[in-house]
Amino acid sequence: MGGTDQMDNNISCYRIGIRSKKWYWPIFTYLIDAAIQNAWILYRKSGRKITQLEFRRNLSQTYLTRYQVPARAPGRVPKAAGSNFRVCNDIRYDGLHHYVIPVPEGKRRRCGGDNCGSRGRTMCCKCNIGFCVDCFRNFHTQ
Ligand SMILES: [Zn+2]
Ligand SMILES: [Zn+2]
Repeated sequence: MGGTDQMDNNISCYRIGIRSKKWYWPIFTYLIDAAIQNAWILYRKSGRKITQLEFRRNLSQTYLTRYQVPARAPGRVPKAAGSNFRVCNDIRYDGLHHYVIPVPEGKRRRCGGDNCGSRGRTMCCKCNIGFCVDCFRNFHTQ
């Protein structure tokens, strides 16, 4: 056997750190941790090398980006949040629903393309990063 020990080892490295007084909470988080750990093992069996920490980071970023709630009051969001935020590769190259949209309120954004400092009025609606026409395609192709 030894599989269970290995799993407990993997899980104890990066347990969910949210605490709650509910009696079932540790069981609930353990189940999620176990599911993530299993997914990570399957992912590696598909031939990709990735540490559990990287896997968990990608997973969180994927969900956060995919289900993010648009800020209600744009004025209160720090300006850097839009330009500094980098999408993880799983979303960047998924080829799904990356559309060019005008930057809200007719503003300009710095283009997120490498070595491109231009400021334009277009952005990717999914990545939430500003792009000029040239860089939009480059950014989304591997
Ligand atoms: Zn995009
Ligand atoms: Zn550009």
